Amino acid sequence: MTALQRRLRKTLTELRAAGTHKTLRHLTGPTGPVTRIEGLGEVLVFCSNNYLGLANHPAVVEAGMEGLRRYGAGTASVRFICGTFECHRELEHRLAQFLGTEAALTYVSCWNANEGLLPSLLQEGDAIVSDELNHASIIDAGRLSRPATRRVFPHGDVAALETVLGELDAAPVRLVVTDGVFSMEGDLAPLPELVAACRRHAATLVVDDSHGVGVLGAHGRGTPEHFHLPGHGPDGVDILTGTLGKALGGAAGGYVAGPAAVIDYLIQRSRPQLFSNALPPTVACSAAKALDILEHEPERVAQLHANTDRMRHGLRRLGYQVLDSPSAIVPIMIGASARAIRLSEQLLDRGIFVVGFGFPVVPEGAARLRVQLSAAHTDQHIDTALDAFEALRADA
Ligand SMILES: *Cc1c(COP(=O)(O)O)cnc(C)c1O
Repeated sequence: MTALQRRLRKTLTELRAAGTHKTLRHLTGPTGPVTRIEGLGEVLVFCSNNYLGLANHPAVVEAGMEGLRRYGAGTASVRFICGTFECHRELEHRLAQFLGTEAALTYVSCWNANEGLLPSLLQEGDAIVSDELNHASIIDAGRLSRPATRRVFPHGDVAALETVLGELDAAPVRLVVTDGVFSMEGDLAPLPELVAACRRHAATLVVDDSHGVGVLGAHGRGTPEHFHLPGHGPDGVDILTGTLGKALGGAAGGYVAGPAAVIDYLIQRSRPQLFSNALPPTVACSAAKALDILEHEPERVAQLHANTDRMRHGLRRLGYQVLDSPSAIVPIMIGASARAIRLSEQLLDRGIFVVGFGFPVVPEGAARLRVQLSAAHTDQHIDTALDAFEALRADA
Protein backbone atom coordinates (compact mmCIF):
# COMPACT_ATOMS: atom_id res chain seq x y z
CA MET A 1 0.00 0.00 0.00
CA THR A 2 1.25 3.44 -0.80
CA ALA A 3 1.78 6.06 1.88
CA LEU A 4 -1.25 7.92 0.59
CA GLN A 5 -3.55 4.92 0.86
CA ARG A 6 -2.29 4.18 4.37
CA ARG A 7 -3.04 7.71 5.42
CA LEU A 8 -6.51 7.77 3.89
CA ARG A 9 -7.42 4.45 5.51
CA LYS A 10 -6.24 5.63 8.89
CA THR A 11 -8.34 8.78 8.68
CA LEU A 12 -11.41 6.90 7.47
CA THR A 13 -11.05 4.39 10.32
CA GLU A 14 -10.80 7.25 12.81
CA LEU A 15 -13.92 8.87 11.38
CA ARG A 16 -15.85 5.60 11.70
CA ALA A 17 -14.66 5.14 15.28
CA ALA A 18 -15.73 8.69 16.13
CA GLY A 19 -19.18 8.13 14.59
CA THR A 20 -18.67 11.04 12.20
CA HIS A 21 -18.13 9.09 8.99
CA LYS A 22 -20.71 10.22 6.44
CA THR A 23 -22.68 7.87 4.23
CA LEU A 24 -24.67 9.39 1.41
CA ARG A 25 -28.43 8.94 1.26
CA HIS A 26 -30.00 8.73 -2.16
CA LEU A 27 -33.21 10.56 -2.95
CA THR A 28 -35.29 8.85 -5.59
CA GLY A 29 -37.46 11.81 -6.51
CA PRO A 30 -37.47 15.61 -6.35
CA THR A 31 -36.78 17.40 -3.10
CA GLY A 32 -39.69 19.08 -1.35
CA PRO A 33 -41.31 19.11 2.08
CA VAL A 34 -41.75 15.38 1.44
CA THR A 35 -39.32 13.23 -0.49
CA ARG A 36 -38.32 9.59 -0.87
CA ILE A 37 -35.03 8.12 0.26
CA GLU A 38 -33.75 4.85 -1.21
CA GLY A 39 -34.24 2.04 1.27
CA LEU A 40 -36.29 4.21 3.65
CA GLY A 41 -39.29 5.39 1.67
CA GLU A 42 -41.14 8.62 2.29
CA VAL A 43 -39.72 11.18 4.73
CA LEU A 44 -40.52 14.73 5.80
CA VAL A 45 -37.58 16.99 4.96
CA PHE A 46 -36.38 19.44 7.62
CA CYS A 47 -32.75 19.74 6.53
CA SER A 48 -32.97 21.28 3.09
CA ASN A 49 -32.25 24.86 2.00
CA ASN A 50 -35.36 24.80 -0.17
CA TYR A 51 -36.70 27.68 1.93
CA LEU A 52 -39.40 28.87 -0.44
CA GLY A 53 -40.39 25.47 -1.81
CA LEU A 54 -39.32 26.46 -5.32
CA ALA A 55 -36.86 23.63 -6.09
CA ASN A 56 -39.63 21.52 -7.61
CA HIS A 57 -42.12 24.29 -8.42
CA PRO A 58 -43.74 23.41 -11.80
CA ALA A 59 -43.00 26.87 -13.27
CA VAL A 60 -39.35 26.74 -12.15
CA VAL A 61 -38.96 23.27 -13.66
CA GLU A 62 -40.70 24.34 -16.88
CA ALA A 63 -38.50 27.47 -17.18
CA GLY A 64 -35.44 25.25 -16.91
CA MET A 65 -36.74 22.93 -19.63
CA GLU A 66 -37.54 25.89 -21.85
CA GLY A 67 -34.00 27.17 -21.31
CA LEU A 68 -32.63 23.73 -22.13
CA ARG A 69 -34.63 23.58 -25.38
CA ARG A 70 -33.77 27.12 -26.38
CA TYR A 71 -30.08 27.30 -25.46
CA GLY A 72 -29.01 23.68 -25.25
CA ALA A 73 -27.14 21.94 -22.46
CA GLY A 74 -24.57 24.58 -21.73
CA THR A 75 -22.31 27.37 -22.90
CA ALA A 76 -19.24 25.35 -23.90
CA SER A 77 -17.30 28.51 -23.14
CA VAL A 78 -16.33 30.95 -20.46
CA ARG A 79 -18.31 34.18 -20.33
CA PHE A 80 -15.91 36.48 -22.19
CA ILE A 81 -15.32 34.23 -25.20
CA CYS A 82 -18.71 32.98 -26.38
CA GLY A 83 -20.41 31.87 -23.16
CA THR A 84 -22.60 34.87 -22.37
CA PHE A 85 -26.21 34.21 -23.38
CA GLU A 86 -29.11 36.62 -23.16
CA CYS A 87 -30.48 34.59 -20.23
CA HIS A 88 -27.36 35.56 -18.22
CA ARG A 89 -27.99 39.25 -18.82
CA GLU A 90 -31.64 38.80 -17.96
CA LEU A 91 -30.94 36.97 -14.69
CA GLU A 92 -28.19 39.38 -13.65
CA HIS A 93 -30.39 42.36 -14.39
CA ARG A 94 -33.19 40.85 -12.32
CA LEU A 95 -30.87 40.01 -9.44
CA ALA A 96 -29.52 43.57 -9.32
CA GLN A 97 -33.05 44.98 -9.44
CA PHE A 98 -34.25 42.63 -6.72
CA LEU A 99 -31.32 43.37 -4.42
CA GLY A 100 -31.29 47.10 -5.21
CA THR A 101 -27.68 47.07 -6.44
CA GLU A 102 -26.28 48.68 -9.58
CA ALA A 103 -25.25 45.39 -11.15
CA ALA A 104 -24.78 41.65 -10.58
CA LEU A 105 -22.69 38.84 -12.04
CA THR A 106 -23.43 35.11 -11.82
CA TYR A 107 -21.03 32.27 -11.02
CA VAL A 108 -21.62 28.52 -11.06
CA SER A 109 -21.95 28.56 -7.26
CA CYS A 110 -21.67 30.97 -4.36
CA TRP A 111 -18.50 29.11 -3.35
CA ASN A 112 -17.16 30.08 -6.74
CA ALA A 113 -18.46 33.65 -6.38
CA ASN A 114 -16.62 34.13 -3.08
CA GLU A 115 -13.44 32.66 -4.50
CA GLY A 116 -13.86 34.75 -7.64
CA LEU A 117 -14.49 37.95 -5.73
CA LEU A 118 -12.16 38.31 -2.75
CA PRO A 119 -8.78 37.39 -4.30
CA SER A 120 -9.42 39.58 -7.33
CA LEU A 121 -10.17 42.65 -5.18
CA LEU A 122 -7.20 42.32 -2.83
CA GLN A 123 -3.58 43.20 -3.50
CA GLU A 124 -0.41 43.08 -1.43
CA GLY A 125 -0.66 45.42 1.55
CA ASP A 126 -4.48 45.20 1.65
CA ALA A 127 -6.34 43.40 4.41
CA ILE A 128 -9.31 41.08 4.77
CA VAL A 129 -11.10 40.84 8.12
CA SER A 130 -13.47 37.91 8.57
CA ASP A 131 -16.03 36.88 11.22
CA GLU A 132 -14.77 33.74 12.97
CA LEU A 133 -17.92 31.78 12.07
CA ASN A 134 -17.88 32.64 8.37
CA HIS A 135 -18.68 29.99 5.79
CA ALA A 136 -15.86 27.74 4.56
CA SER A 137 -15.97 29.33 1.10
CA ILE A 138 -15.13 32.73 2.62
CA ILE A 139 -12.28 31.21 4.63
CA ASP A 140 -10.87 29.55 1.51
CA ALA A 141 -11.35 32.73 -0.56
CA GLY A 142 -9.39 34.57 2.13
CA ARG A 143 -6.59 32.01 1.85
CA LEU A 144 -6.51 32.59 -1.91
CA SER A 145 -6.10 36.32 -1.24
CA ARG A 146 -2.69 35.49 0.20
CA PRO A 147 -0.64 38.65 -0.42
CA ALA A 148 -3.24 40.51 1.66
CA THR A 149 -3.15 40.42 5.47
CA ARG A 150 -5.81 38.12 6.93
CA ARG A 151 -7.44 38.75 10.30
CA VAL A 152 -10.39 37.21 12.10
CA PHE A 153 -12.73 38.95 14.55
CA PRO A 154 -14.84 37.23 17.26
CA HIS A 155 -18.32 36.33 16.04
CA GLY A 156 -20.51 39.42 15.63
CA ASP A 157 -18.23 41.51 17.85
CA VAL A 158 -18.21 44.95 16.21
CA ALA A 159 -16.03 46.56 18.92
CA ALA A 160 -13.37 43.89 18.38
CA LEU A 161 -13.65 44.41 14.63
CA GLU A 162 -13.04 48.13 15.08
CA THR A 163 -9.91 47.40 17.11
CA VAL A 164 -8.63 45.18 14.28
CA LEU A 165 -9.51 47.82 11.67
CA GLY A 166 -7.67 50.42 13.73
CA GLU A 167 -4.54 48.23 13.66
CA LEU A 168 -4.85 47.94 9.88
CA ASP A 169 -5.07 51.67 9.19
CA ALA A 170 -2.08 51.50 6.85
CA ALA A 171 -3.76 49.03 4.48
CA PRO A 172 -5.09 50.90 1.43
CA VAL A 173 -8.04 48.54 0.99
CA ARG A 174 -9.70 46.77 3.92
CA LEU A 175 -12.47 44.27 3.23
CA VAL A 176 -14.72 43.21 6.09
CA VAL A 177 -16.47 39.97 5.20
CA THR A 178 -19.36 38.29 6.97
CA ASP A 179 -22.17 35.83 6.44
CA GLY A 180 -25.57 37.57 6.56
CA VAL A 181 -27.10 34.53 8.30
CA PHE A 182 -24.75 32.09 10.02
CA SER A 183 -25.55 28.55 9.02
CA MET A 184 -24.91 26.71 12.28
CA GLU A 185 -26.43 29.30 14.65
CA GLY A 186 -29.11 30.78 12.40
CA ASP A 187 -28.25 34.20 13.81
CA LEU A 188 -27.65 37.39 11.81
CA ALA A 189 -24.62 39.59 11.38
CA PRO A 190 -25.26 43.01 13.00
CA LEU A 191 -25.32 44.73 9.62
CA PRO A 192 -26.21 48.32 10.67
CA GLU A 193 -23.34 48.35 13.19
CA LEU A 194 -20.99 46.72 10.66
CA VAL A 195 -21.89 49.34 8.03
CA ALA A 196 -21.22 52.13 10.55
CA ALA A 197 -17.88 50.59 11.61
CA CYS A 198 -16.81 50.20 7.98
CA ARG A 199 -17.72 53.83 7.24
CA ARG A 200 -15.71 55.03 10.27
CA HIS A 201 -12.65 53.10 9.05
CA ALA A 202 -13.17 53.60 5.31
CA ALA A 203 -13.47 49.83 4.91
CA THR A 204 -15.57 47.89 2.38
CA LEU A 205 -18.28 45.57 3.70
CA VAL A 206 -18.91 42.29 1.86
CA VAL A 207 -21.89 40.19 2.97
CA ASP A 208 -22.51 36.61 1.83
CA ASP A 209 -26.29 36.37 2.18
CA SER A 210 -26.76 32.79 1.02
CA HIS A 211 -29.06 31.81 3.92
CA GLY A 212 -30.69 35.26 4.00
CA VAL A 213 -31.84 35.90 0.46
CA GLY A 214 -35.42 34.71 -0.06
CA VAL A 215 -35.75 34.29 3.69
CA LEU A 216 -35.37 37.66 5.43
CA GLY A 217 -37.13 40.98 4.89
CA ALA A 218 -40.75 41.49 3.88
CA HIS A 219 -39.90 40.83 0.20
CA GLY A 220 -37.24 38.21 0.86
CA ARG A 221 -34.46 40.51 -0.27
CA GLY A 222 -32.34 39.24 2.56
CA THR A 223 -30.48 40.40 5.64
CA PRO A 224 -30.05 44.02 4.41
CA GLU A 225 -33.80 44.30 3.92
CA HIS A 226 -34.38 42.81 7.39
CA PHE A 227 -32.36 45.72 8.81
CA HIS A 228 -33.96 48.26 6.39
CA LEU A 229 -30.61 49.00 4.74
CA PRO A 230 -30.55 50.32 1.16
CA GLY A 231 -29.18 48.09 -1.61
CA HIS A 232 -26.49 50.59 -2.52
CA GLY A 233 -24.93 53.84 -1.35
CA PRO A 234 -22.94 54.73 1.78
CA ASP A 235 -25.70 53.63 4.16
CA GLY A 236 -25.78 50.08 2.84
CA VAL A 237 -23.67 46.97 2.37
CA ASP A 238 -21.01 47.55 -0.31
CA ILE A 239 -20.94 44.14 -2.00
CA LEU A 240 -23.28 41.15 -1.69
CA THR A 241 -22.68 37.56 -2.61
CA GLY A 242 -25.29 34.82 -2.49
CA THR A 243 -26.43 31.50 -3.82
CA LEU A 244 -29.14 30.45 -6.26
CA GLY A 245 -28.90 26.97 -4.74
CA LYS A 246 -31.00 27.62 -1.64
CA ALA A 247 -34.19 29.72 -1.62
CA LEU A 248 -33.89 30.91 -5.23
CA GLY A 249 -34.72 27.65 -6.96
CA GLY A 250 -32.18 25.36 -5.35
CA ALA A 251 -30.47 24.23 -8.56
CA ALA A 252 -27.00 25.76 -8.31
CA GLY A 253 -25.31 29.03 -9.05
CA GLY A 254 -24.24 32.09 -7.16
CA TYR A 255 -23.75 35.77 -7.69
CA VAL A 256 -21.90 38.90 -6.74
CA ALA A 257 -24.08 42.04 -6.60
CA GLY A 258 -22.85 45.58 -6.05
CA PRO A 259 -21.47 48.67 -7.78
CA ALA A 260 -21.18 48.53 -11.58
CA ALA A 261 -17.42 49.11 -11.35
CA VAL A 262 -16.98 46.01 -9.15
CA ILE A 263 -18.94 43.87 -11.58
CA ASP A 264 -17.06 45.21 -14.61
CA TYR A 265 -13.75 44.62 -12.81
CA LEU A 266 -14.75 41.00 -12.04
CA ILE A 267 -15.57 40.45 -15.73
CA GLN A 268 -12.00 41.58 -16.49
CA ARG A 269 -10.11 39.91 -13.65
CA SER A 270 -12.06 37.29 -11.70
CA ARG A 271 -10.35 33.99 -12.44
CA PRO A 272 -13.44 31.70 -12.45
CA GLN A 273 -15.04 34.14 -14.93
CA LEU A 274 -11.98 33.98 -17.15
CA PHE A 275 -11.17 30.29 -16.94
CA SER A 276 -14.34 28.35 -16.11
CA ASN A 277 -17.65 27.79 -17.87
CA ALA A 278 -20.60 30.09 -17.33
CA LEU A 279 -23.76 29.19 -15.41
CA PRO A 280 -25.75 26.70 -17.54
CA PRO A 281 -28.73 28.41 -19.25
CA THR A 282 -31.17 25.88 -17.74
CA VAL A 283 -30.12 27.02 -14.29
CA ALA A 284 -30.19 30.71 -15.24
CA CYS A 285 -33.74 30.33 -16.56
CA SER A 286 -34.93 28.41 -13.49
CA ALA A 287 -33.40 30.97 -11.13
CA ALA A 288 -34.98 33.88 -13.03
CA LYS A 289 -38.35 32.17 -12.71
CA ALA A 290 -37.76 31.61 -8.99
CA LEU A 291 -37.13 35.36 -8.60
CA ASP A 292 -40.28 36.04 -10.58
CA ILE A 293 -42.35 33.87 -8.25
CA LEU A 294 -40.82 35.43 -5.16
CA GLU A 295 -41.60 38.93 -6.45
CA HIS A 296 -45.20 38.02 -7.22
CA GLU A 297 -45.76 35.90 -4.11
CA PRO A 298 -44.06 37.58 -1.17
CA GLU A 299 -46.56 35.72 1.00
CA ARG A 300 -44.20 32.74 0.65
CA VAL A 301 -41.75 34.61 2.87
CA ALA A 302 -44.46 35.30 5.47
CA GLN A 303 -45.46 31.62 5.37
CA LEU A 304 -41.83 30.59 5.94
CA HIS A 305 -41.66 32.84 9.01
CA ALA A 306 -44.96 31.48 10.35
CA ASN A 307 -43.72 27.91 9.85
CA THR A 308 -40.44 28.69 11.60
CA ASP A 309 -42.30 30.21 14.56
CA ARG A 310 -44.59 27.19 14.81
CA MET A 311 -41.64 24.80 14.87
CA ARG A 312 -39.58 26.87 17.32
CA HIS A 313 -42.45 27.35 19.78
CA GLY A 314 -43.41 23.68 19.50
CA LEU A 315 -39.87 22.55 20.28
CA ARG A 316 -39.63 24.96 23.23
CA ARG A 317 -42.93 23.65 24.59
CA LEU A 318 -41.42 20.16 24.54
CA GLY A 319 -38.49 21.45 26.58
CA TYR A 320 -35.84 21.52 23.88
CA GLN A 321 -33.16 24.18 24.06
CA VAL A 322 -33.60 26.12 20.83
CA LEU A 323 -31.59 29.10 19.60
CA ASP A 324 -33.52 32.22 18.66
CA SER A 325 -33.27 34.16 15.39
CA PRO A 326 -35.37 35.62 12.57
CA SER A 327 -33.88 33.15 10.04
CA ALA A 328 -35.39 29.81 8.99
CA ILE A 329 -32.63 27.85 10.76
CA VAL A 330 -33.68 26.43 14.13
CA PRO A 331 -30.73 24.85 15.95
CA ILE A 332 -31.59 22.50 18.83
CA MET A 333 -28.68 22.35 21.25
CA ILE A 334 -27.93 18.77 22.30
CA GLY A 335 -24.40 18.74 23.70
CA ALA A 336 -22.45 15.59 22.88
CA SER A 337 -21.81 14.83 19.20
CA ALA A 338 -22.72 11.14 19.51
CA ARG A 339 -26.09 12.03 21.06
CA ALA A 340 -26.93 14.51 18.29
CA ILE A 341 -26.05 11.94 15.63
CA ARG A 342 -28.09 9.23 17.38
CA LEU A 343 -31.11 11.53 17.67
CA SER A 344 -30.98 12.37 13.98
CA GLU A 345 -30.96 8.63 13.20
CA GLN A 346 -33.92 8.01 15.50
CA LEU A 347 -35.80 10.87 13.85
CA LEU A 348 -35.12 9.39 10.44
CA ASP A 349 -36.45 6.02 11.63
CA ARG A 350 -39.66 7.94 12.31
CA GLY A 351 -39.64 9.53 8.85
CA ILE A 352 -38.28 12.92 9.92
CA PHE A 353 -35.15 14.02 8.05
CA VAL A 354 -33.09 16.32 10.30
CA VAL A 355 -29.31 16.40 10.43
CA GLY A 356 -27.10 16.43 13.52
CA PHE A 357 -23.88 18.42 13.55
CA GLY A 358 -21.06 17.61 15.93
CA PHE A 359 -17.38 18.26 16.31
CA PRO A 360 -15.46 19.43 14.27
CA VAL A 361 -18.23 21.34 12.42
CA VAL A 362 -19.24 22.94 15.75
CA PRO A 363 -17.22 23.08 19.01
CA GLU A 364 -17.11 19.90 21.15
CA GLY A 365 -20.03 19.91 23.58
CA ALA A 366 -22.07 22.21 21.33
CA ALA A 367 -23.46 19.50 19.04
CA ARG A 368 -26.88 20.24 17.69
CA LEU A 369 -29.71 19.19 15.45
CA ARG A 370 -30.33 21.77 12.77
CA VAL A 371 -33.98 22.08 11.78
CA GLN A 372 -34.67 24.08 8.63
CA LEU A 373 -38.11 25.18 7.59
CA SER A 374 -39.66 25.73 4.19
CA ALA A 375 -42.65 27.80 3.08
CA ALA A 376 -43.88 24.54 1.55
CA HIS A 377 -44.27 22.79 4.92
CA THR A 378 -47.87 22.50 6.09
CA ASP A 379 -48.94 22.76 9.73
CA GLN A 380 -49.46 19.02 9.59
CA HIS A 381 -45.88 18.38 8.45
CA ILE A 382 -44.58 20.46 11.33
CA ASP A 383 -46.88 18.84 13.88
CA THR A 384 -45.87 15.35 12.68
CA ALA A 385 -42.24 16.32 13.23
CA LEU A 386 -43.07 17.71 16.68
CA ASP A 387 -44.76 14.40 17.58
CA ALA A 388 -41.51 12.61 16.75
CA PHE A 389 -39.52 15.11 18.80
CA GLU A 390 -41.92 14.56 21.69
CA ALA A 391 -41.49 10.78 21.52
CA LEU A 392 -37.70 11.19 21.63
CA ARG A 393 -37.68 13.86 24.33
CA ALA A 394 -36.52 11.49 27.09
CA ASP A 395 -33.49 10.58 24.98
CA ALA A 396 -32.52 14.15 24.14
C1 LIG B 1 -24.50 27.54 1.23
C2 LIG B 1 -23.52 28.64 1.30
C3 LIG B 1 -22.56 28.81 0.31
C4 LIG B 1 -22.39 27.85 -0.83
O1 LIG B 1 -23.33 28.09 -1.83
P1 LIG B 1 -23.19 27.25 -3.19
O2 LIG B 1 -23.92 28.09 -4.19
O3 LIG B 1 -23.84 25.93 -2.94
O4 LIG B 1 -21.74 27.13 -3.47
C5 LIG B 1 -21.71 29.91 0.39
N1 LIG B 1 -21.80 30.77 1.42
C6 LIG B 1 -22.69 30.60 2.42
C7 LIG B 1 -22.74 31.60 3.53
C8 LIG B 1 -23.58 29.53 2.38
O5 LIG B 1 -24.46 29.36 3.37
